[in-house]
Amino acid sequence: MGVDDSEQERTIGTGEQRTRTSGPRVLVAGASIAGPALAHWLRRRGAEVTVVERAPELRPGGQAVDARGVAREVIRRMGLDAVVRAACTDTAGAHTVDADGQVLETFRADDDGGDGFIADIEILRGDLSQLLYDDTRDGVEYIFGDRIAELTQDAGGADVVFARGNRRRFDLVIGADGLHSPLRAMVFGPHERFLRHLGHVLAFYSVPNEFGLDRWLLEYQDQESGRSALLRPIQDATRATSMFSFTSPDFDVDHRDVAAQKRLLRERMAGLGWLAPDILAHLDDTPDFYLDQVAQVVMDRWSSGRVGLLGDAAFSSSPLSGQGTGLALVGAYLLAGELAAAEWDPGTGFARYETRMRSFVEANQEIGRLNARRRDVPGPDAQPLPDFAGEWFTELVGRAINGVELPDYAGAPDSAASAGSPIT
Ligand SMILES: Cc1cc2nc3c(=O)[nH]c(=O)nc-3n(C[C@H](O)[C@H](O)[C@H](O)COP(=O)(O)OP(=O)(O)OC[C@H]3O[C@@H](n4cnc5c(N)ncnc54)[C@H](O)[C@@H]3O)c2cc1C
Repeated sequence: MGVDDSEQERTIGTGEQRTRTSGPRVLVAGASIAGPALAHWLRRRGAEVTVVERAPELRPGGQAVDARGVAREVIRRMGLDAVVRAACTDTAGAHTVDADGQVLETFRADDDGGDGFIADIEILRGDLSQLLYDDTRDGVEYIFGDRIAELTQDAGGADVVFARGNRRRFDLVIGADGLHSPLRAMVFGPHERFLRHLGHVLAFYSVPNEFGLDRWLLEYQDQESGRSALLRPIQDATRATSMFSFTSPDFDVDHRDVAAQKRLLRERMAGLGWLAPDILAHLDDTPDFYLDQVAQVVMDRWSSGRVGLLGDAAFSSSPLSGQGTGLALVGAYLLAGELAAAEWDPGTGFARYETRMRSFVEANQEIGRLNARRRDVPGPDAQPLPDFAGEWFTELVGRAINGVELPDYAGAPDSAASAGSPIT
């Protein structure tokens, strides 16, 4: 497969910031959280980065995502602490309520030193994605509305054919393309081999705040049916994001068939009390509907030759772990750092990234599975739930939040400026 000659001396950036670089060429698939975060670190370490995103533009939406412990430190090292904090939700805490809206339990945002149920860095997923994109857009080539259609690798590089017809050669290709990663399926094998469905489905979308929400998140759980609904104010409380959850032993709705997903949600939420009917009334006028199975990705290896995986594509811990974004941010830091420290040798760099990340990932996946079990509707043969007040659980949470070392990679190149700055 040939390499497009015009790509041999590619320039990146726009206008004044158009510069030529000589580092390795890295293609990243996916521009949500893991992709742009990796682009930041690769660029800083001297790579020439292209990010391809299948959607025609950055995808909005999602609930709040959290950065706790070591993920907070990665944000600080990215130089994004202030901008991320400025964009954080202003959530005071969460109330669980009964069907009449009476408060049952309260969790405050400053519980557990800011690493609790509501983390002190809590930001809407769409806002964090936008912020990471803004940070990298001038130093990184972004291609929207395209995807990798074919990939072949040899000892010296990877040849990629894009769906829109372009052919290009890269030194490394990284899949940050989410739970249903098409790159993973192309290189590592079918989804069924790696996806572990945890028996639940989640849906998120925004609605007008006609509920008088102020700074508190409200959650209603119907223990008997295993369903729940949640609301939180966003955009100066003019709107709210909602989340619905229901149990489902299997899941066979196409993750891109939005009409089928909305039908499924209506069906499964029928009869749920509290504010559920008012939230469902906005299903057809919301700009940002998202529904997916709660699932984890479990793989023996996260790389094959010159292709590596990051974020949900490699090691989804599920939204029920509350740590999917943290894992993506920490993984991006370590992946770029280890590749650069190994002078971009894929075998060494990928192996060290994996060694550093694996037990951290496993602790978070354990939490995701435990939280899924807590939401199960217990059948007659159900195993009793473990005692979450035990020391073992505190120790597990500690490992899930802080259980990974972040080397400073002092010997590896670091342009030290943010990825958006021109490299000369
Ligand atoms: C729209 C949206 C809403 C979400 N909402 C929540 C939420 O409310 N709560 C929560 O806990 N998690 C949510 N998630 C998942 C959360 O973002 C991840 O768990 C976590 O942040 C890790 O992110 P990731 O970048 O690895 O994967 P993802 O966030 O899933 O991003 C994967 C990206 O890859 C893109 N992509 C897919 N296929 C291709 C392809 N062939 N080529 C190029 N690009 C491709 C997708 O469009 C997407 O932008 C949401 C994800 C998305 C995309």
